[in-house]
Amino acid sequence: MKKNYINGRWSDAVSGASRGIVNPANGEVIALVADSGAEDSALAVAAAKEAFYGAGAWRRMSGPNRAELLYAVADTIKARTEELALLDTVNNGKPLREARADVADAVACFRYYAGLIGKPQGGVYEVGDGFGAMHAYCLHEPIGVCALITPWNYPLLMAAWKLAPALAAGNCVVFKPSELTPLSAVLLFEIFDAVGLPAGTANLVLGDGPGAGAALAASHDVDMITFTGSTRTGQSIAAAAVGNLKKVALELGGKSPNLIFADADLEGAVEWAMIGIFFNQGEVCSAGSRILVEASIKPRFVARLAERAKAMTIGDGRHDPDMGALASEAQMNKVLAAIGAARQQGATLVCGGERYIEGDCARGFFVRPTIFDDCTGAMDIVREEVFGPVVTIQGFTTEQEAIAMANDTPYGLAGGVFTSDGARALRVIKELRAGVTWINCYNPTFNEAPWGGYKMSGYGRDLGVHGMAEYQQVKQVNINLQPGPVGWYAQR
Ligand code: NAD
Repeated sequence: MKKNYINGRWSDAVSGASRGIVNPANGEVIALVADSGAEDSALAVAAAKEAFYGAGAWRRMSGPNRAELLYAVADTIKARTEELALLDTVNNGKPLREARADVADAVACFRYYAGLIGKPQGGVYEVGDGFGAMHAYCLHEPIGVCALITPWNYPLLMAAWKLAPALAAGNCVVFKPSELTPLSAVLLFEIFDAVGLPAGTANLVLGDGPGAGAALAASHDVDMITFTGSTRTGQSIAAAAVGNLKKVALELGGKSPNLIFADADLEGAVEWAMIGIFFNQGEVCSAGSRILVEASIKPRFVARLAERAKAMTIGDGRHDPDMGALASEAQMNKVLAAIGAARQQGATLVCGGERYIEGDCARGFFVRPTIFDDCTGAMDIVREEVFGPVVTIQGFTTEQEAIAMANDTPYGLAGGVFTSDGARALRVIKELRAGVTWINCYNPTFNEAPWGGYKMSGYGRDLGVHGMAEYQQVKQVNINLQPGPVGWYAQR
């Protein structure tokens, strides 16, 4: 039975309710966790508020000491890599080697932000015309109480992306992971507890969106809310946040284009396209789910991609297949429904297109790697995010046409281009209306560079120095270098 962590103590949901957590590879319940509601979120927010505005232990702690604790978090995550990776694999379904990579990334994320604490911030400005000699500088301060809400596709990594910079900046936080995949987050909070974060600095609420999550978005005691998840939920969070004008950062869905020109290295483009859409079972917000390929190589490209997709191994993530289970039965059904609609709307199924039920997999939620050819911009499968191992193929003949097709989407999270013409790669990238892009590769991303979307993929940035700045207020400080009367009003 896994509990909430509020004000430095483990506690059940106020209602006493609990929820079964399922291994999507076999449908078995592997843990019970607190199923919290609005009242639990309120308790967690109150603890964070008292810790920030009352005791202030975390925000007043010296930078080096704060950094040392976050380095200790990173070291402990690293030491417990196998446990954390296994938790994400049995809870989310992803192959173990991908879960291990997530843990390594989470370690690097805490280290990066621990290191950033000591780096110079803010500017000093020589100012003063009209009011005598002055000078100004800026303080970068924590925002206060931050609520962080994450989805189920990268349980540990999304937690790290938000918790590391929010804590490094000196905030007190309430973290709500997805109700489907909370297990690695619970272990992460055990680590926070063990390294000795002051009580109330980091609080964990386990519960669903409409209950525990919506209460965080609406709370007037929350100063900022940062959210990764679906565009629809992001819209409701932004609307709820209006009540106290809390700051909002949203990392939402995508329908990202992957452009393959005829002069690209074909084998390379095929493998990266697979990484683009089959990594993490395609449950990746930046997934290259729309492949746009130059007409002259389209038959060759599609044939090779299908050949390789069909050869992928599928199974329980613990055995390290090429692809694991989708995160839940509901997600599998959503993906299968999107596949059905695509066939009805006239897309040509090249491979996959069905649930994978061989051997033990019949008990789990697996879908075969799926490729649709002859797609058009009018089809739902091209317009709507599937969040599964399903890719569409469309042909183009000119660079201009490819760019227009790429941008013909309400989303703007990511995009990639494959070509051996360097200037063309740069031209195309410049035209893409998306926040994360790749040239001759697809999907790798690093803690050092900012991550976020254009258009309906949200606003704000995770990672990099931008990610830290999201969790900071900037205070302008003006200093009179010659104290005394300034002579603006005549002395009478
Ligand atoms: P979701 O929006 O259903 O849920 C995400 C989180 O929000 C969960 O913790 C959920 O409990 C919570 N939530 C749901 N309703 C809420 C509400 N009304 N108020 C507050 N919180 C609420 O999304 P999901 O199905 O968990 O995740 C899949 C989506 O996430 C996809 O659309 C995907 O593109 C997106 N995603 C985006 C990124 C990114 O960086 N842009 C990364 C991963 C996933």
